Amino acid sequence: MRPASSAAGRATTALADLPLRAELRGVEPYGAPQLDVPVLLNVNENPVPPSEQVAREMGEAVAAAARGLNRYPDREFLDLRADLADFLALESGVRLPPEQVWAANGSNEVMLQLLQAFGGHGRTAVSFAPTYSMYPEYARDTGTRWVAGRRAEDFTVDPDAAVALVRAEQPSVVLLASPNNPTGTALPAAVVEAVCDVAPGVVVVDEAYAEFRRAGVPSALELLERYPRLAVSRTMSKAFSLAGARVGYLASSPAVVDALRVVRLPYHLSGVTQAVARVALRHSAELLRGVDALRAERDDLVLWLRALGLEVAESDANFVLFGRLADRHAAWQGLLDRGVLVRETGPDGWLRVSVGTPEETTLFKDALLQVLDEPAGARVA
Ligand SMILES: *Cc1c(COP(=O)(O)O)cnc(C)c1O
Repeated sequence: MRPASSAAGRATTALADLPLRAELRGVEPYGAPQLDVPVLLNVNENPVPPSEQVAREMGEAVAAAARGLNRYPDREFLDLRADLADFLALESGVRLPPEQVWAANGSNEVMLQLLQAFGGHGRTAVSFAPTYSMYPEYARDTGTRWVAGRRAEDFTVDPDAAVALVRAEQPSVVLLASPNNPTGTALPAAVVEAVCDVAPGVVVVDEAYAEFRRAGVPSALELLERYPRLAVSRTMSKAFSLAGARVGYLASSPAVVDALRVVRLPYHLSGVTQAVARVALRHSAELLRGVDALRAERDDLVLWLRALGLEVAESDANFVLFGRLADRHAAWQGLLDRGVLVRETGPDGWLRVSVGTPEETTLFKDALLQVLDEPAGARVA
C-alpha cells in the first residue's frame, strides 16, 4: 500500500496499512489504566518502597555496574542465580543449585520464554480461567493454540476436571497460577501433582504471589524433585517491592533451564538489573518481615469486607477479589471519584483491590462505604 504523505512531506502510515499478523488486528495493548490518583491499589504492587538503606546500596551497585557498561553483561548471571537459589531456600526450605534457577525481565518474560521453547504452531497451552490475562497473550504471540478450562464457583481447580482436560488436549504447556490472579486462590499440592502425573509436556506453576500465602499453604517448589518437567515461576515485582526493576525468575530442572537458554535474547538481563536485584536479595530477611505485615492486613481486609455482607474470595496473595456488584463499573468509578483506583477484573460483578499501606487501606474502606451507600454500590440480588 502507498503511504499517505503529510503536508510537510513526511511519510505516515496507519496501523491498518501495516502487514500486522491477522491475530493482532484490532487488539488493544495490555494494560491497567495508569492514572494519577492518590491511592493506587490496582496492580498488586507492594505499597512500601525499598528502604533508604537499600536504595542507597542499589545506587552504589548501579554506579559500580556503570563502570563496566561498555561490555555486555554476564550472559549466564550465575551469581544472581545463586542469590535467588539462596532466597528460595530461605523462603521455602527447598535448596536448589544455581543451574536450576533462571531469570529474565519480569516473570512475564520467563513465561514467554517457556512458551517460545515449548509452545508454537501445532501445539496447545492449557490453563484454568478466570486467571492471569497475559497467558493467552503468550500463546497468541508464539502461535500456540490456547485452551482455557474453567475453575469452580469458588475459583478452585477441580483435579478430576483438570486431569480430564489435560488428557483430552495433550498440551505441551500447562499454566497454573497459584496463588491465582485475579482471585487469590492457591492450589493444593494434590492438584499440581494430579496435573503433573498426566501432563505430556511442561507444567508451569506461576507463584508470583507465593510469599504472601497463608501458613501451611505449600509451594510447588516442594514437588520439583519428583517432576523434572515442572517449572515454578516467581517474581521480585511483588514481595520484593521491585516491580520497576523487572526481575522474574524460575526454578525447574537443569534441562528446562537449558531450553530457555536456547530461546532467550542475547544478554537479555542487563548488568544494571542484575546489580539491583542482588542488592535486594541481600536484604531478603528484612523484606519478608514487611510481607508478614501485608499478609496480616490482607486477612483483616477479607474479614472486614465479609462483615459488610460482600462475597470475598479466599486470598493467599496481596490482593482481594470481592463482589458481587450489580454494576461493578459504576462502583469502580465511584471509588475512583474518591481518589482510589482498584481493578475492574475477574468475573462480572467482582472488583480486585491490592493491599496497600494501612493508611491507603483506610482510605479504600472509607470510599467503599460511601459507594456501597449509593445506587452504584448495589449488590447482585
Ligand atoms: C504480577 C504477576 C506476575 C509478575 O509479573 P512480572 O513480569 O514479574 O512483573 C506474574 N504472574 C501473575 C499471575 C501476576 O499477577
